[in-house]
Amino acid sequence: MKRQLTLSKNHWQEMLDHVDRQVSLEGCGLLAGKNDRVEKVIFVRNQAQSPARFVMDPYEQLQAFDWIESNGLDLLGIFHSHPAGPETASVTDIAEAAYEVVHLIWFRDQSRWQARGFWIENGYATEVSLQIVE
Ligand SMILES: [Zn+2]
Repeated sequence: MKRQLTLSKNHWQEMLDHVDRQVSLEGCGLLAGKNDRVEKVIFVRNQAQSPARFVMDPYEQLQAFDWIESNGLDLLGIFHSHPAGPETASVTDIAEAAYEVVHLIWFRDQSRWQARGFWIENGYATEVSLQIVE
């Protein structure tokens, strides 16, 4: 069971910029890499175009999965934003979690974006530590 995810500052900033551009809709994407270390952030369109829900565009998601596989990487995480909170995985997030990967949730603390990682299994979300490195 994965309990941590390592990201570079650049990957962190790429996600932050992406979710900030989507505001006040939820933004989403995928994290690919190896051995808990993220090597690529892939943006995916939120087909739901909703401030309280995300549904990954299935075509973009499939393309992303193909890219990950053909580059010899693994799907390590799924990120999405909660522009109006909460700062944890929502009931819907827990119910709809379809992949055994880290779920990274972006939320706003006052006006500043922050993110927390969660492992969702058997109807429960437990926090995963996020290591930010150079
Ligand atoms: Zn959510």
